Amino acid sequence: CGIVGYIGNKNTQSVLVEGLKKLEYRGYDSAGIAVYTHKGLEVVKAQGRIVNLEAKLEHDPLVGSSGIGHTRWATHGKPSDANSHPHTDESQKFSVVHNGIVENYLDLKDELISQGHTFTSETDTEIIAHLISREYEGDIVIAVQKAITHMRGAFALGVLAENEPEKLVAVRQASPLIIGIGEGENFIGSDIPAILQYTRNVYILNDGEMAVLTQDSVELMTIEGNFISREMIHVDWDA
Ligand code: GLU
Repeated sequence: CGIVGYIGNKNTQSVLVEGLKKLEYRGYDSAGIAVYTHKGLEVVKAQGRIVNLEAKLEHDPLVGSSGIGHTRWATHGKPSDANSHPHTDESQKFSVVHNGIVENYLDLKDELISQGHTFTSETDTEIIAHLISREYEGDIVIAVQKAITHMRGAFALGVLAENEPEKLVAVRQASPLIIGIGEGENFIGSDIPAILQYTRNVYILNDGEMAVLTQDSVELMTIEGNFISREMIHVDWDA
Protein backbone atom coordinates (compact mmCIF):
# COMPACT_ATOMS: atom_id res chain seq x y z
CA CYS A 1 0.00 0.00 0.00
CA GLY A 2 2.67 2.55 1.00
CA ILE A 3 6.48 2.40 0.71
CA VAL A 4 9.17 4.72 1.96
CA GLY A 5 12.93 4.20 2.05
CA TYR A 6 15.89 6.24 3.20
CA ILE A 7 19.68 6.20 3.03
CA GLY A 8 21.59 9.08 4.64
CA ASN A 9 22.62 10.71 7.88
CA LYS A 10 19.30 11.92 9.24
CA ASN A 11 17.43 9.97 11.92
CA THR A 12 16.37 7.09 9.64
CA GLN A 13 13.59 5.83 11.92
CA SER A 14 11.93 9.22 12.04
CA VAL A 15 12.27 9.83 8.27
CA LEU A 16 10.54 6.48 7.68
CA VAL A 17 7.77 6.96 10.25
CA GLU A 18 7.04 10.55 9.17
CA GLY A 19 6.99 9.42 5.54
CA LEU A 20 4.55 6.62 6.32
CA LYS A 21 2.28 9.10 8.10
CA LYS A 22 2.07 11.13 4.87
CA LEU A 23 0.77 8.01 3.12
CA GLU A 24 -1.88 7.33 5.78
CA TYR A 25 -4.62 8.65 3.51
CA ARG A 26 -4.21 5.52 1.38
CA GLY A 27 -5.48 3.36 4.23
CA TYR A 28 -3.65 0.40 5.74
CA ASP A 29 -3.91 -2.34 8.32
CA SER A 30 -0.34 -2.50 9.64
CA ALA A 31 2.94 -0.65 9.44
CA GLY A 32 6.57 -1.60 9.87
CA ILE A 33 10.17 -0.56 9.29
CA ALA A 34 13.56 -2.24 8.86
CA VAL A 35 16.76 -0.35 9.65
CA TYR A 36 20.37 -1.43 9.26
CA THR A 37 21.69 -0.92 12.81
CA HIS A 38 24.92 -1.95 14.55
CA LYS A 39 23.21 -5.32 15.14
CA GLY A 40 22.42 -5.85 11.45
CA LEU A 41 19.01 -5.61 9.82
CA GLU A 42 16.42 -5.03 12.52
CA VAL A 43 12.66 -5.05 11.91
CA VAL A 44 9.83 -3.60 14.01
CA LYS A 45 6.22 -3.92 12.85
CA ALA A 46 2.75 -3.63 14.30
CA GLN A 47 -0.82 -4.28 13.28
CA GLY A 48 -3.09 -1.26 13.19
CA ARG A 49 -2.28 2.41 13.04
CA ILE A 50 1.16 3.98 12.90
CA VAL A 51 0.85 4.99 16.57
CA ASN A 52 1.09 1.27 17.41
CA LEU A 53 4.38 1.08 15.51
CA GLU A 54 5.58 4.26 17.21
CA ALA A 55 4.74 2.79 20.62
CA LYS A 56 6.93 -0.25 19.89
CA LEU A 57 9.75 1.95 18.57
CA GLU A 58 9.65 4.11 21.66
CA HIS A 59 10.86 1.14 23.72
CA ASP A 60 13.22 -0.10 21.05
CA PRO A 61 14.40 2.71 18.72
CA LEU A 62 16.24 1.65 15.56
CA VAL A 63 19.39 3.69 14.89
CA GLY A 64 21.13 3.46 11.51
CA SER A 65 21.67 5.17 8.19
CA SER A 66 19.53 3.07 5.85
CA GLY A 67 16.01 1.75 6.17
CA ILE A 68 12.71 0.85 4.51
CA GLY A 69 9.13 1.25 5.74
CA HIS A 70 5.69 0.04 4.69
CA THR A 71 2.01 0.44 5.34
CA ARG A 72 0.09 -2.67 4.30
CA TRP A 73 -3.24 -3.13 2.60
CA ALA A 74 -3.54 -6.90 2.94
CA THR A 75 -4.20 -8.87 -0.24
CA HIS A 76 -2.74 -12.28 0.72
CA GLY A 77 -2.90 -13.19 4.41
CA LYS A 78 -4.94 -11.53 7.12
CA PRO A 79 -3.89 -8.29 8.82
CA SER A 80 -1.50 -9.40 11.62
CA ASP A 81 1.94 -8.65 13.01
CA ALA A 82 3.39 -11.71 11.23
CA ASN A 83 1.97 -10.70 7.85
CA SER A 84 3.16 -7.09 8.19
CA HIS A 85 6.07 -5.86 6.11
CA PRO A 86 9.07 -5.67 5.99
CA HIS A 87 9.53 -9.38 5.29
CA THR A 88 12.72 -11.40 5.48
CA ASP A 89 13.95 -14.93 4.87
CA GLU A 90 15.28 -17.26 7.57
CA SER A 91 18.81 -15.83 7.26
CA GLN A 92 17.35 -12.42 8.23
CA LYS A 93 19.94 -10.87 5.91
CA PHE A 94 17.43 -9.39 3.47
CA SER A 95 14.53 -7.06 4.11
CA VAL A 96 11.75 -6.40 1.61
CA VAL A 97 8.77 -4.05 1.43
CA HIS A 98 6.28 -4.65 -1.37
CA ASN A 99 3.21 -3.01 -2.84
CA GLY A 100 1.09 -5.08 -5.20
CA ILE A 101 0.53 -8.77 -5.78
CA VAL A 102 2.86 -11.59 -6.83
CA GLU A 103 0.39 -13.64 -8.85
CA ASN A 104 2.41 -16.86 -9.02
CA TYR A 105 3.45 -16.78 -5.36
CA LEU A 106 1.90 -20.16 -4.50
CA ASP A 107 3.95 -21.96 -7.15
CA LEU A 108 7.08 -20.12 -6.01
CA LYS A 109 6.32 -20.89 -2.38
CA ASP A 110 5.95 -24.64 -3.15
CA GLU A 111 9.25 -24.57 -5.04
CA LEU A 112 11.05 -22.74 -2.22
CA ILE A 113 9.61 -25.10 0.42
CA SER A 114 10.85 -28.08 -1.60
CA GLN A 115 14.28 -26.40 -1.59
CA GLY A 116 14.23 -26.24 2.21
CA HIS A 117 12.89 -22.74 2.88
CA THR A 118 10.49 -22.23 5.80
CA PHE A 119 7.92 -19.46 5.87
CA THR A 120 6.60 -17.42 8.77
CA SER A 121 3.79 -15.49 7.05
CA GLU A 122 0.88 -16.09 4.71
CA THR A 123 1.86 -13.27 2.36
CA ASP A 124 2.85 -13.31 -1.27
CA THR A 125 5.59 -10.83 -0.29
CA GLU A 126 7.61 -13.21 1.88
CA ILE A 127 8.53 -15.32 -1.16
CA ILE A 128 10.38 -12.28 -2.57
CA ALA A 129 12.77 -12.20 0.40
CA HIS A 130 13.39 -15.96 0.03
CA LEU A 131 13.95 -15.69 -3.73
CA ILE A 132 16.48 -12.86 -3.24
CA SER A 133 18.24 -14.90 -0.56
CA ARG A 134 18.35 -17.95 -2.85
CA GLU A 135 19.79 -15.92 -5.73
CA TYR A 136 22.29 -13.91 -3.65
CA GLU A 137 25.93 -14.49 -4.52
CA GLY A 138 27.43 -11.30 -3.11
CA ASP A 139 25.68 -8.65 -5.23
CA ILE A 140 22.24 -7.52 -4.13
CA VAL A 141 21.45 -5.81 -7.44
CA ILE A 142 22.02 -9.00 -9.40
CA ALA A 143 20.13 -11.06 -6.79
CA VAL A 144 17.08 -8.77 -7.08
CA GLN A 145 17.25 -8.88 -10.89
CA LYS A 146 17.37 -12.68 -10.84
CA ALA A 147 14.59 -12.94 -8.25
CA ILE A 148 12.15 -10.82 -10.25
CA THR A 149 12.61 -12.88 -13.40
CA HIS A 150 10.64 -15.57 -11.50
CA MET A 151 7.82 -13.26 -10.39
CA ARG A 152 4.61 -12.39 -12.26
CA GLY A 153 2.25 -9.63 -11.24
CA ALA A 154 2.50 -6.13 -9.84
CA PHE A 155 5.24 -5.04 -7.54
CA ALA A 156 6.97 -1.97 -6.23
CA LEU A 157 9.84 -3.07 -4.00
CA GLY A 158 12.30 -1.63 -1.53
CA VAL A 159 15.13 -4.03 -0.64
CA LEU A 160 18.00 -3.93 1.87
CA ALA A 161 20.79 -6.50 2.24
CA GLU A 162 22.70 -6.80 5.49
CA ASN A 163 25.99 -7.45 3.67
CA GLU A 164 25.65 -4.30 1.56
CA PRO A 165 24.20 -1.68 3.93
CA GLU A 166 25.43 1.19 1.77
CA LYS A 167 22.85 0.31 -0.91
CA LEU A 168 19.09 0.59 -1.16
CA VAL A 169 17.49 -1.16 -4.14
CA ALA A 170 14.11 -0.17 -5.59
CA VAL A 171 12.05 -1.84 -8.32
CA ARG A 172 8.92 -0.75 -10.15
CA GLN A 173 6.73 -3.18 -12.07
CA ALA A 174 3.10 -2.10 -12.49
CA SER A 175 2.97 -0.45 -9.07
CA PRO A 176 4.17 3.16 -8.62
CA LEU A 177 7.55 4.15 -7.16
CA ILE A 178 9.54 7.37 -7.14
CA ILE A 179 13.08 8.29 -6.11
CA GLY A 180 13.80 11.42 -4.07
CA ILE A 181 17.19 13.02 -4.54
CA GLY A 182 18.84 14.82 -1.65
CA GLU A 183 22.34 15.99 -0.75
CA GLY A 184 24.25 13.19 0.93
CA GLU A 185 20.95 11.33 1.24
CA ASN A 186 18.39 9.72 -1.05
CA PHE A 187 14.83 8.43 -0.71
CA ILE A 188 12.28 6.11 -2.26
CA GLY A 189 8.51 6.47 -1.99
CA SER A 190 5.38 4.94 -3.42
CA ASP A 191 4.09 8.48 -3.76
CA ILE A 192 5.66 11.96 -3.74
CA PRO A 193 4.06 13.12 -0.43
CA ALA A 194 6.08 10.44 1.41
CA ILE A 195 9.30 12.37 0.78
CA LEU A 196 8.18 15.91 0.00
CA GLN A 197 9.12 17.22 3.43
CA TYR A 198 12.76 16.27 2.66
CA THR A 199 13.29 16.92 -1.05
CA ARG A 200 11.48 18.29 -4.10
CA ASN A 201 13.78 16.66 -6.64
CA VAL A 202 12.52 13.33 -7.91
CA TYR A 203 12.89 10.69 -10.58
CA ILE A 204 9.74 8.86 -11.58
CA LEU A 205 10.45 5.19 -12.33
CA ASN A 206 8.62 3.53 -15.22
CA ASP A 207 7.46 -0.08 -15.29
CA GLY A 208 10.34 -2.48 -15.67
CA GLU A 209 12.86 -0.10 -14.13
CA MET A 210 14.92 -0.17 -10.96
CA ALA A 211 17.18 2.11 -8.96
CA VAL A 212 20.23 1.59 -6.79
CA LEU A 213 20.64 4.29 -4.15
CA THR A 214 23.63 5.11 -1.99
CA GLN A 215 23.97 8.22 0.18
CA ASP A 216 25.68 10.05 -2.68
CA SER A 217 24.36 8.46 -5.86
CA VAL A 218 21.30 7.15 -7.67
CA GLU A 219 21.72 4.73 -10.57
CA LEU A 220 18.70 4.01 -12.74
CA MET A 221 18.50 0.89 -14.89
CA THR A 222 16.07 -1.47 -16.50
CA ILE A 223 15.35 -4.65 -14.57
CA GLU A 224 17.57 -6.35 -17.17
CA GLY A 225 20.44 -4.16 -15.97
CA ASN A 226 20.76 -1.63 -18.81
CA PHE A 227 21.61 1.81 -17.39
CA ILE A 228 19.19 4.61 -18.24
CA SER A 229 19.20 8.37 -17.74
CA ARG A 230 16.14 10.29 -16.69
CA GLU A 231 15.34 13.93 -16.31
CA MET A 232 14.91 15.01 -12.71
CA ILE A 233 11.55 16.56 -11.90
CA HIS A 234 11.26 19.48 -9.50
CA VAL A 235 8.01 19.27 -7.53
CA ASP A 236 6.58 22.73 -6.99
CA TRP A 237 3.32 21.80 -5.30
CA ASP A 238 2.67 20.99 -1.66
CA ALA A 239 1.06 17.82 -0.39
N1 GLU B 1 0.34 -8.35 -1.38
C1 GLU B 1 1.06 -7.83 -0.27
C2 GLU B 1 0.43 -8.26 1.04
O1 GLU B 1 -0.70 -8.63 1.09
C3 GLU B 1 1.24 -6.30 -0.33
C4 GLU B 1 -0.04 -5.54 -0.12
C5 GLU B 1 0.16 -4.03 -0.21
O2 GLU B 1 0.32 -3.52 -1.34
O3 GLU B 1 0.11 -3.36 0.85
O4 GLU B 1 1.07 -8.22 2.06
